[in-house]
Amino acid sequence: MTTKANNQRCAVCGGELQATTITHEEKRDSHIYLFQNVPAKVCTACGEIWMDEEVLQQIDKLIEYGVPVRKVETPVYDFPRAVAPAH
Ligand SMILES: [Zn+2]
Repeated sequence: MTTKANNQRCAVCGGELQATTITHEEKRDSHIYLFQNVPAKVCTACGEIWMDEEVLQQIDKLIEYGVPVRKVETPVYDFPRAVAPAH
């Protein structure tokens, strides 16, 4: 996922960008923060998601000062242990 916004063209493939809203996932240390209905632009050709610098700054502020609407529990798996249980 790329987070640098560019005019109206995809900087990866030059495809056309379409304004939409996405669910954005931001990881900080061991915490995961979810943001719903975030304004973003999606490339109609390659599917790359682009977000404005301004939106990213607002997300930074929300992580520090924002009040979440709800919290979810996130299941965590240790992959090697999960696929091959200890005998
Ligand atoms: Zn593209």
